[in-house]
This record gives sequence, structure tokens and C-alpha cells, in this order.
Amino acid sequence: MSPPLLSVRGLGKHFPIYGRGFVRKVTGLVRAVDEVTFDLAPGETLGLVGESGSGKTTAARCILRALTPTAGTVLFRPDDGPAVDLATLPERALKPLRPRMQMIFQDPISSLNPRMTVGQIVAEPLVIHRLARGAELDDRVADILRKVGLKPEHRSRYPHAFSGGQRQRIGIARALIMRPSLVVADEAVSALDVSVQAQVLNLLKDLQAEFRLTYLFVAHNLDVVRHFCDRVAVMYAGRIVELAPVHELFTQPKHPYTRALLSAVPWPDPDVKMRFDVPGEVADPSRLPPGCAFHPRCGECFAPCRTLRPELIEAGGGTRAACHLHDPVQAAQRRATG
Ligand code: SF4
Repeated sequence: MSPPLLSVRGLGKHFPIYGRGFVRKVTGLVRAVDEVTFDLAPGETLGLVGESGSGKTTAARCILRALTPTAGTVLFRPDDGPAVDLATLPERALKPLRPRMQMIFQDPISSLNPRMTVGQIVAEPLVIHRLARGAELDDRVADILRKVGLKPEHRSRYPHAFSGGQRQRIGIARALIMRPSLVVADEAVSALDVSVQAQVLNLLKDLQAEFRLTYLFVAHNLDVVRHFCDRVAVMYAGRIVELAPVHELFTQPKHPYTRALLSAVPWPDPDVKMRFDVPGEVADPSRLPPGCAFHPRCGECFAPCRTLRPELIEAGGGTRAACHLHDPVQAAQRRATG
């Protein structure tokens, strides 16, 4: 088995909260991402899901070093070479690795410069990294435009002349022209109509097979994740609470929060009632509850949940879950005390 392309261990991103007054002391921390750990195999698609504010986008940005993590390691192994820790690498050493990891953004309108032609937008990463010029640059732009379903003659047009789906194809072309190994797609189809979503997802699948891409797919739409991902990591209050193969997650969810999320997924059956039956709001990452951060909202909460923070542990079926229900010792005590 080939080693993981990406090994994330104990990743954290904490933002300080400053008090008022002349001397601005740090009075607290917003734990936007905390102790996130997972591996990503070459060619795999991992979905990162959760409600707004769960930390999924911040985690993805830390992995690409768009944000500098405050804790943990991000071991990246491009081209089966030696692993490098993106979390601590100085910016100068990071630059040659940038082409190997790219991002596709949610909003194709705001992520494309309206003053640049499509040709300039798509060619820009190659120009910045001085990887091609002249006829070779033109050929590579034309080639990638064809591969994403656009025409080489679209090069001279501006982004406003395209539909939402076509603009997202331009964003994909810009990311893939660098021949990356790792692509982070941050809500890449959320802003598109359902029919266009399907086309773009099919395109991403085809491109994954052709270029052997590895995707970290940040999304809140579980139905999309179900059809697109190999494994899923569910985040709550900055931490991964369940990490599972996609089929297992949707058929045998192990964490109460995952079960609640799935209960809110629309189902094509009028007799199936859809409801997100979890009281309260997502935990405030600056004032996380002690113990399990989900315990004030959890219908299965028992004594240790209020004081002990659950770690990600084996929960069966290839799933890891951060829940005391899957800890044999805690579960036995729960049964014993009724
Ligand atoms: Fe619920 Fe306790 Fe599991 Fe947290 S640890 S999800 S509170 S049962």
C-alpha cells in the first residue's frame, strides 16, 4: 500500500481574544480547529462536513497553509517523495510546493478577476511560478480548457460572459493547470444549480481519474458527499467527531451528531419526515463546554460526557468516533448504572 499523500496530526488553529484597554491582554482563545487528525491516500476523496462554524474551511485552509496552524503537523508527500511538514515550513520553502496543492473555491464569481480574460486567469499560476511561457503556455491553457469542457477560443472572453457552471470550470482549469496532487474543493458546487452541480461533480470525477488527483472535499450538502466521496470526516466545534467510509457513515452512523445531521437530509419519499432534532446552537468555540462539546445538545449524554473529552476511537466497520458510547469501559458503566 502506498503511503498517505497527506497525514494530518493534531492540527489546531486558535485565534486569540484580546481584552479592552490600553494593554490588550489575551483573555481567551477561539478554538476554531482542534486536534484534527486524519490520513488521505493518493487518489482518495475525503469529505469534510459539518454545520457552519464547525471549522471545516479553517482546517482546509490550514492544510494548504493559507492560514498558519497553531498546533500539529501536516505531512505532505508529493510524487512519492519525502514527506514535508507544511505546518512549519518557511514561506520560501513552501513556494515550490504550491503548484502541487491547489484550491477550488465556492464562489466562481468572486474568485475570478473580472478584469482578466479567461486565458490570463488560467495561465496566471504558470506565469507566477515561471513554469511555462510563449507557445507552451498557450498550448497548456488550450489543453486544460478542453479538458474541463470549455473551448480554446474562450480564452479571449471575460468571466462575466459565462454561466455559473462555466465559471466554475474556469476555476477548475486554473487549479489543475499546475498538475497538483492535492486539490481542496471548498464548497465547490454549493453555489450551483442542482443539474449543473451534477455536471461539475462528474467532471471532477473524470479529472481525478485522468490526473490521479486526491480531493479534500469541504461541503455541507451530505447528499453530494454521499455520491462523491470515499470517506467522510464529520466536524463539530473544531474537532472530527466521526471518520468513516462513506457507505458505513450513511448506513451505520456511530456518533449522535452524525445521526442528527443525517436525519436532516432530504429524502425522496413524502412519508419520510425530515427533521434536525437537536436542540440548541453549535457550541461556541471560544467557550466550549467541558467534556464532550456536543453534550448540551446530545440526547444520549451520560455522566462522563460532562467532564471527559472523548477521543477518536475505533467504533466498528472501519469507523472512528469521538463518543463515550463506543468506549467499552464507559459503555459498561453506563449499562451498570442503568
Ligand atoms: Fe453524546 Fe456523550 Fe457521545 Fe458526546 S460523548 S456524543 S454527549 S453520548
